[in-house]
Amino acid sequence: TARSSADLIRAEEPVLAHNYHPLPVVVARAEGAWVEDVEGRRYLDMLAGYSALNFGHRHPALIEAAHRQLDRLTLTSRAFHNDKLAGFAERLAALTGLDMVLPMNTGAEAVESGIKVARKWTYEVKGVPADRATIVVAADNFHGRTTTIVSFSTDETARQGFGPFTPGFRIVPYNDLAALEAAVDETTAAVLIEPIQGEAGVVIPDDGYLSGVREVTRRKGCLFIADEIQSGLGRTGRTLAVEHEGVVPDMLLLGKALGGGIVPVSAVLARRDVLGVLRPGEHGSTFGGNPLAAAVGTAVVELLETGEFQRRAAELGELLRDGLTSLTGKGVTTFRARGLWAGVDIDPAISTGREIGERLLHEGILVKDTHGSTIRLAPPLTITGDELESALGALEKVLG
Ligand code: PLP
Repeated sequence: TARSSADLIRAEEPVLAHNYHPLPVVVARAEGAWVEDVEGRRYLDMLAGYSALNFGHRHPALIEAAHRQLDRLTLTSRAFHNDKLAGFAERLAALTGLDMVLPMNTGAEAVESGIKVARKWTYEVKGVPADRATIVVAADNFHGRTTTIVSFSTDETARQGFGPFTPGFRIVPYNDLAALEAAVDETTAAVLIEPIQGEAGVVIPDDGYLSGVREVTRRKGCLFIADEIQSGLGRTGRTLAVEHEGVVPDMLLLGKALGGGIVPVSAVLARRDVLGVLRPGEHGSTFGGNPLAAAVGTAVVELLETGEFQRRAAELGELLRDGLTSLTGKGVTTFRARGLWAGVDIDPAISTGREIGERLLHEGILVKDTHGSTIRLAPPLTITGDELESALGALEKVLG
């Protein structure tokens, strides 16, 4: 017999690690921008798997690509070639304007892989003495959860109890070009930043910051690594967030939506002179570049090639911005938005982000709080204007 939501939530407590604090909803099925819980209640998904579901739940073209591939071939390992990987890499490189692809699975793996490639490039191409490479990162970053990545996090909750940490990182304030330039020296392999800081609350740097990072890294002879795992693939109204400043990084990290919400797919993309430093045996992943991932990833790239999702994000982003502007001063202290992506700061006198999330849940809207007083809105790019308006209406109601 089917178990109730309450029963399933209770059942998790003794058997699942407590590294999350989910809202009390148990999702059983989904389609497009909508999810349905165990009892058949429907909710509008305004989080979209932290941007892993940019194309909505179970987009027909992606599900079809997955089904087709499931019926033919799912895994080979990279011990052999598979017939889906070359096409995926060609299409993804063409979409992003970079030369070569290193396929991985999760975002954190792409970041780790990018760090390894940048270090190797520095020793081989720049001639920095062994083990002396440094990487400059930004405060309040979020790049994942591995031991090396939390080594350069500034979030104490993410670090406490997990040392010793990996050396070789320098942390500078985000959106501060002078501090960044001062931290770069002859040992610097790369500057690694999010073009928009997602987990920090959709923090958008000033115009000129990204092009400034591009200019400094080029002048100083180190790599610019853009982590677009959350900001990329249509979310901001462009394929990549760096496009808003016409910038092409030396290395690009993608994940989340690259797997279409179906399988974990991530990638490091770079020019040939950078990714070319890797040789057989030096790096790898059992699942990276598997044919199912490549088939779904190719279908994702095909959706983005149409430009439709970027256009929707830009157009509906105007609606989102207008709606949030009208709530500012009425429970919203301030917000930051680009495309279909917003960080909304809730007036602490009214409520916390968590409580707003719980109230919205009762209104049939799914969102997630971050940093106490902020909620993040990142609906599927397939959401309609009416659906978006209804979510904004619900937000107005729970703030009132
Ligand atoms: N980088 C950025 C910018 C992210 O937002 C995230 C996840 O939120 C990651 C890396 C880590 O991705 P994953 O959770 O797939 O390891």
